[in-house]
Amino acid sequence: MIHSSLKALSAALASRQISSVELSTLFLDRIDRLNPEINAFVTVDREKTLAMARAADARIAAGNAGPLTGIPIAQKDIFCAEGWLTTCGSRMLSNFVSPYDATVIRKMHAEAGMVSLGKTNMDEFAMGSSNETSYFGSVKNPWDRSRVPGGSSGGSAAAIAARMAPAATGTDTGGSIRQPAGLCNLTGLKPTYGVVSRYGMIAFASSLDQGGPMAGSAEDCALLLNTMVGFDERDSTSLDRPAEDYARDLDKPLAGLRIGLPKEFFGEGCDAKVMAAVQSAIDEYRKLGATIVDVSLPNSHLSVPAYYVIAPAEASSNLSRFDGVRYGYRAPEYGNLDDMYAKTRAQGFGGEVKRRILIGTYVLSHGYYDAYYLQAQRIRRLIANDFVEAFKTCDVILGPTSPSTAFKLGEKSADPVQMYLSDIYTIAVNLAGLPGMSLPCGFVDGLPVGMQLIGNYFDEARLLNVAHRYQQVCDWHLRRPDGID
Ligand code: GLN
Repeated sequence: MIHSSLKALSAALASRQISSVELSTLFLDRIDRLNPEINAFVTVDREKTLAMARAADARIAAGNAGPLTGIPIAQKDIFCAEGWLTTCGSRMLSNFVSPYDATVIRKMHAEAGMVSLGKTNMDEFAMGSSNETSYFGSVKNPWDRSRVPGGSSGGSAAAIAARMAPAATGTDTGGSIRQPAGLCNLTGLKPTYGVVSRYGMIAFASSLDQGGPMAGSAEDCALLLNTMVGFDERDSTSLDRPAEDYARDLDKPLAGLRIGLPKEFFGEGCDAKVMAAVQSAIDEYRKLGATIVDVSLPNSHLSVPAYYVIAPAEASSNLSRFDGVRYGYRAPEYGNLDDMYAKTRAQGFGGEVKRRILIGTYVLSHGYYDAYYLQAQRIRRLIANDFVEAFKTCDVILGPTSPSTAFKLGEKSADPVQMYLSDIYTIAVNLAGLPGMSLPCGFVDGLPVGMQLIGNYFDEARLLNVAHRYQQVCDWHLRRPDGID
């Protein structure tokens, strides 16, 4: 059961082969056993989980279950969940129990009847690519415990890779669903901006943040995405679109599909063995009937610099709400009000978050706004236009998710620029607001390699189709780390 797909779990629950309480207990027991070393979860609450599982079993018994009712899932600790500690990986929120549910949480639990296994570890305020900026300590990659799981959704990725959960949520501002999915042999999807509500998802860079599913396969991601999307009047950037079934095209043949390879993704900067794995996936797609075309994203080399102006600018504004007055951490000793703010923020935030706040306030300040922030916004438009051009000649874009496999814990933490470059292939997608996903495409020295698929706006169903067809012929995604029984 532990290794079953969501579809298989759904069938087992529907046929009463197992109850949600039994299934949830299997995962909770694994969390008890494996989490002390992996550190994927910040909060686990057996009683709460089992209460949700009992409610799901009652729903199944009453005959009003949906496809995911009773299925356990791990929630990234960036999503507010009523009555649950919601830390966002920060000391600043280390005592914050949310009084309300994020829309994603409400949809998955109250509406779909899924069961929460707990809240997963993450880089502080989702700023990072290795999960090492978390106040709650780093997370170990189940494929090699001396290595990072990626970030910022590193806890979610490690939880699934060690099968402490069959699926999880993530959020992706510059790659935080795709990169950890790639480094942990998972499938993860970052939807088109505006498709999944950001209400109750603690804001990092609001114009880039998007929640999405992480799981073992594209098919599982499609089922999860079906429960996550939808217009939300509480999110001013939520899009009102007709409902669709993201699983509808999974089996569609790929004959005639045009896959674009951006030359900028296949030049220097990527590990040669990672590139070889991506190349063999391209060969598989040829066999599946796809046509390979060359495309260009001429401004993609500007995506990391533009992102590290725009994301910190938005973060500096979003994080001003953490002042020690309304919620979260407050410095125990201080003089006047200004001193309270200063001490609270000095003690409550970690180094990377402070760096972003400093950069963000700098690029927004009078005199530098035009030179940095406005210029970055112009580059953002050029980057988005590059994709518009590319999608005139192809249906999806393919490339590596990350330039290397999982790196060692501590390897990049002293060098922020090296860390930032691990998102070199993912960030442009957020700047453009496009959907993107990562799926397993092989191994290098025992470590998973992810390939990235980028789609046009609202083309999630096609991305999932393209990923699913590959997963029918290449079963990298079914491999398990050693020592994970
Ligand atoms: N690694 C990137 C950053 O540090 C992206 C993080 C994310 O997508 N949340 O900002």
